[in-house]
Amino acid sequence: MRLRINERDCMRRLPKTVKVGGHTISVEQVKNLDSMGEYHRGKSTIYINKEISYQQKAATLLHEILHVILGEQVPDMKMEKEEPLVTALEVGLFAFIKDNPKVVRYLEGA
Ligand SMILES: [Zn+2]
Repeated sequence: MRLRINERDCMRRLPKTVKVGGHTISVEQVKNLDSMGEYHRGKSTIYINKEISYQQKAATLLHEILHVILGEQVPDMKMEKEEPLVTALEVGLFAFIKDNPKVVRYLEGA
């Protein structure tokens, strides 16, 4: 029982780094951010608003990771096209990951 609580606490701890396409990106929680999150390409850092809920932080982390991926894969995409695409993928992928833990484990094993 005690272990399960620790596992849950660990899951809710925002990771300090994420690896995307072989690069390590720092993840920092900050107060007084105008948005839920931001990705600063020059600093290789994702900033997450400290004052939002765990669920919002998780969705925002995924959102910013998608910006990192698109920035690497499609570097000349204009922001007015990137933002709605990233938002659509964030909503779809977040729901997919939560609804399909067996598929996520299958993908992890590949
Ligand atoms: Zn965005």
